[in-house]
Amino acid sequence: RVNQNFDIIANIEQITESANRDPMTRLYNRRYMHEAGEQLYASAKRGNITLSAAILDVDFFKKINDTYGHAAGDAALIHLAKILTSRLRKTDIVARYGGEEIVILFANPAELACVDVCEELRQSIEASPVRFQGQEIPMTVSIGVTDQLGDSFQDMLKQADGHLYRAKENGRNQTMTDAVVGSAG
Ligand code: GH3
Ligand code: MG
Ligand code: MG
Repeated sequence: RVNQNFDIIANIEQITESANRDPMTRLYNRRYMHEAGEQLYASAKRGNITLSAAILDVDFFKKINDTYGHAAGDAALIHLAKILTSRLRKTDIVARYGGEEIVILFANPAELACVDVCEELRQSIEASPVRFQGQEIPMTVSIGVTDQLGDSFQDMLKQADGHLYRAKENGRNQTMTDAVVGSAG
């Protein structure tokens, strides 16, 4: 009877966990990211934690699909998810935001600035090609990251997305963050 109850609890936990995850990459899904993000954001606004948000997008992902096939593209996303989860902390929220777009929420970033963490991620992705059916497929990503809370969580994501856009415009395979203003003189 006791064992049976444990099984039921484990089952429920399993179901809840699955509801929050993207089935292919096992990263958090967009809905969960928004839920957790709103809570972290409120906490950051109250000054209880610090929060940074990053958006990462695979460079020319369409080309990977077109050149190696859709299954290779899927393998690339799974590979990317593994790199991210292995290099980030348990407390960081890593979520599949859309097709080949990932959102990372850093709550309580301690010693390292998040832009440095993102840059390290970008470099390790560049350094570890996807292995698929005996081939090595190179992959790079562009990242936009911000620690500006702005007026809403949505606003914060928009800020990070703007930085991502500049990273793409500037030639891809790079990390962009909040601009340093007025450094001259
Ligand atoms: P950019 O550097 O500007 O981001 O170029 P891109 O090719 O990455 O951007 P684009 O938005 O044109 O293409 C994204 C592609 O991602 C198109 C879509 O078919 C593919 N995609 C989205 N989800 C999946 C998926 O789950 N598996 C695979 N294999 N491809 C996917
Ligand atoms: Mg995209
Ligand atoms: Mg892309």
